[in-house]
Amino acid sequence: MEHAQCLIIGAGPAGLSAAIYTARAGVGTLVLGCDPKVAGDYDIDNYFGFPETITGKELIERGAAQARRFGASLRCERVLGAHYGDAGGFTVKTDKNEYAADSIVIAAGVARVRPGITNIADYEGKGVSYCVSCDGFFYRGKTVAVLGEGDYAANQALELTTFTQKVTIYTQGKAPSMSGEFAERLAQAGIAVRQETLKTLSGEPALTTAHTNDGQDVPLDGIFVAMGQASALDFAKTLGLPLRGAFIDADHDQKTGVPGIFAAGDCVGRFLQISVAVGEGAKAGKSAISYLKETGKVGKAEKS
Ligand code: FAD
Repeated sequence: MEHAQCLIIGAGPAGLSAAIYTARAGVGTLVLGCDPKVAGDYDIDNYFGFPETITGKELIERGAAQARRFGASLRCERVLGAHYGDAGGFTVKTDKNEYAADSIVIAAGVARVRPGITNIADYEGKGVSYCVSCDGFFYRGKTVAVLGEGDYAANQALELTTFTQKVTIYTQGKAPSMSGEFAERLAQAGIAVRQETLKTLSGEPALTTAHTNDGQDVPLDGIFVAMGQASALDFAKTLGLPLRGAFIDADHDQKTGVPGIFAAGDCVGRFLQISVAVGEGAKAGKSAISYLKETGKVGKAEKS
């Protein structure tokens, strides 16, 4: 398994800024993530040092080139899950690889795609979950659905087979977009992928039935939401990080409360701006460097 001293989830302003600091300090740095939303043809008018405006695309390209110049490795891979490693540290699984990491910076922005179930909030914690690693155990032998259309949903459904064989994926009306490898593994595991949309839920005191938009009643004990790609919040829940509402709770040094895991940028939910993401990324990078030194995972020599 490939190893990184610092693995950064997210290639936006926060992740790239963290990478510039860690890589420049000689820390083996791997950034996983594809172009952020802002990397389009948008004029950025309020970022320090660009009086004539700069497009989001150019700003991100420049940040990526700068991180690469100091030795960071950048890969457009989607992280499906982050877990604690058996021998300490962390493991991170993507749609293409699996990595071991001594430290993690979560800089995955805010991206939760809602599944479109009208009364879903009433059943959160009463049958609706966002984290197989956290709650899968409670559904041993039960009938469950995973909501999602891509590799993230496929991975969650396959993880659930540790606990139950009665797993179905509902894409909520979207076209399935699982990669060939995941589609094959789902078929082998006997997990059906259905394109109906679950619209409302019922059951008292907990979920018993989902109702589709074409009038079917689907008996279900549990629903795991895994729409789109895994979000910062999903990683936080799997790793047991403290949350502040829909955001990761990080302190002034971007520490999450779990040694070795830091968070920065929009996923921390302060002022959702590039300048703030860049500043928090720098602090997360600095904290990761200190952690790696204190735990003896990197040497003392450092350029900063
Ligand atoms: P993001 O930029 O959202 O980056 C998140 C990164 O995480 C991406 O690389 C994404 O691919 C990655 N990621 C997410 N999930 C996964 C996963 N499962 N696996 C791997 N990678 C993952 N701010 C300003 O200050 N000025 C502006 O003019 C401005 N204009 C904007 C225009 C638009 C259209 C948008 C969308 C935003 C704009 N913003 C602006 C806000 C600004 O873009 C954000 O505050 C900033 O980008 C946050 O940076 P971030 O690194 O925290 O997150």
